[in-house]
Amino acid sequence: MRGIIDDLINALTRLPGIGRKTAQRLAFFILSMPDQEALSLSKAIEKVKEKARFCSICFNITENEICEICSDDSRDRSKLCVVEEPSNILVIERVRDFHSPYHVLLGSLSPIDGITPERLKIKELVGRIRDSEVQEVIIATNPNTKGEMTAQYLKEVLAPLGVKISRIAYGLPMGSDIEFADEVTLGKAIEGRREI
Ligand SMILES: [Zn+2]
Repeated sequence: MRGIIDDLINALTRLPGIGRKTAQRLAFFILSMPDQEALSLSKAIEKVKEKARFCSICFNITENEICEICSDDSRDRSKLCVVEEPSNILVIERVRDFHSPYHVLLGSLSPIDGITPERLKIKELVGRIRDSEVQEVIIATNPNTKGEMTAQYLKEVLAPLGVKISRIAYGLPMGSDIEFADEVTLGKAIEGRREI
């Protein structure tokens, strides 16, 4: 008995922001849930792992070859918004009047952790912009050291392509994460973007 609960607790501690205490609380909560509810949680995890893949164009999460956003013809294709993670798209999509396509880098530069430009979807970004109708690349990486470093690097590699490159102006303290921005702040940040 002890062993299987420990396994669940250990698995839960692997989630971001979940310490041992919270994991214990969650494990015992799951144990007390009706079978059906607990199983639908595990089924949802199973399904997402089985079906989710990266969009072959923008690296957003999708069930299909090409994601819903890339397939949406009503998007303003003169702009391209670059983000670090697929989850960032969900946040930016809440901002009204801003509906460009995206490009997900799948991380940010961090040489100390071995995250070099080759590890990110930068080559794919350059290939995508070349010979496209993109006129402005809006860099929405996080307002922290890695996000800034990534934005500066992108500026250098995208410069020869002759597109306008802008960085969103966060109303957030330096060092924070785009995930925690509300849609009003983020809307203002996009509106107040500066060319870099
Ligand atoms: Zn896509």
